Amino acid sequence: MTNHQLPLLVDSHAHLDGRQFSNDLDQTVERATANGISHILTIGCDLESSAKSIAVAEKYENIFAAVGVHPHDATEINAAALEKLKAMLSHPKVVALGEIGLDYYRDRSPRDVQSTAFRQQIGLARQVGQPIIVHDRDAHDDVIQILKEENGAEAGGVLHCFSGDLKMARQCLELGFYLSFTGTITYPKNETIREIIAEIPIDRMLIETDCPYLSPQKFRGKRNEPAYVRYTAEKLAEIKGLTIEDVARVTSRNCHDLFGFGSVDQSGKIAYQIGDSLYLNVTNRCTNSCVFCAKFSDFVVKGHELQLDHEPSVEEVKQVVGDPTRYAEIVFCGYGEPLLRLDLIKEISRWLKEQGGTVRINSDGQANLVHGRNILPELTGLVDAISISLNAPDAEHYHQLCRSTYGAQQSYQAVKDFLQQAGQYIPEVLATAVTYPGVDIASCEKVARDLGVQFKAREYNQVG
Ligand code: SF4
Ligand SMILES: [Zn+2]
Repeated sequence: MTNHQLPLLVDSHAHLDGRQFSNDLDQTVERATANGISHILTIGCDLESSAKSIAVAEKYENIFAAVGVHPHDATEINAAALEKLKAMLSHPKVVALGEIGLDYYRDRSPRDVQSTAFRQQIGLARQVGQPIIVHDRDAHDDVIQILKEENGAEAGGVLHCFSGDLKMARQCLELGFYLSFTGTITYPKNETIREIIAEIPIDRMLIETDCPYLSPQKFRGKRNEPAYVRYTAEKLAEIKGLTIEDVARVTSRNCHDLFGFGSVDQSGKIAYQIGDSLYLNVTNRCTNSCVFCAKFSDFVVKGHELQLDHEPSVEEVKQVVGDPTRYAEIVFCGYGEPLLRLDLIKEISRWLKEQGGTVRINSDGQANLVHGRNILPELTGLVDAISISLNAPDAEHYHQLCRSTYGAQQSYQAVKDFLQQAGQYIPEVLATAVTYPGVDIASCEKVARDLGVQFKAREYNQVG
């Protein structure tokens, strides 16, 4: 029985084929379902456990399998084994090749053999077009090097139970990989991993149990199982300042994008909730074409689809908001520049304020160029806060990153003027910059300070 009260989570890495579950697999899967686990990916470690994982996936509709040879068993890899894996990969419930990688902690196979097995299996994944699930224990540099040399990016995949540092996390993201986290993020002493999680976008994270191993703190020392992935999700929500619903929606979507199972809501959203804020997506038009803007790839923000099939009317927006006091704030945002729709924003904001709501606008700061006048006085009393994307310490860098239709000099000066003047009409003014590679955050902060406004750095695929 599924508990529909609970947001649905995916356990993206479990080992259900082993003897630890041989007596109570049915009950384990039932408990997972009762705890809102929608799907489980069970992972093979050698040819035998890969075949068993497929059998588990055949038995349960919501379980999928990965097949591969773990570095501990790397000596098993030869031409015949690769052929067997290839045949298994064509099974309809097999969605990935893994787990594969390097383990220099236990060194159960010679390192050169581990390396060869890893390389050959990456090659197989590329050949069959399946993502890889990477095991890395105390072998960070070699894992990155091999992923690069063997073009692992072409296969794509996930670093399971990520244990590297922030630099490695960024390297993995640059290669297009996801990072997956286990119950170890709940361990009191594991502050380092929580600091890494705080720094990287959840849009590239998966959650997993790695059961029967690595139980979360609450069950430490006992057998782990898929139902406990919830504890990892809760900790992730806490670290990222999100709700468990947000974590569920985003990580399930990430699994869908990587492995192809599950379903995602594809409807374009006018309003969407992240944390306790409600975001309003009133246009997809924009004066900028930022190099980091998600609308050039998939229009997805925190698991919400933001591609509009039409620009909503005042009435439509009011309807989706309902009672604005249910939210900490209502933010005009989305993938587009909200102030292009100045009249709608004024009307909705007036209505929101009458209802007792709190209003923020996230803007690129070029509204005065668009409208040919200073529009800030028109927002007096309607808007509580405005966040303006500064993104660069000078016009040249601004243009490289944001590519405004108004050109380098005019656009950047307009953004700075807007920032400087906004405080006369809006109580809270914030300049922001994206943590996109190459953006000089410290210099941006100095520009903001010189303009007399607060400053905040933000993840580049995070709206708000
Ligand atoms: S200002 Fe925002 S919506 Fe416009 S292109 Fe840049 S990131 Fe995208
Ligand atoms: Zn594992």
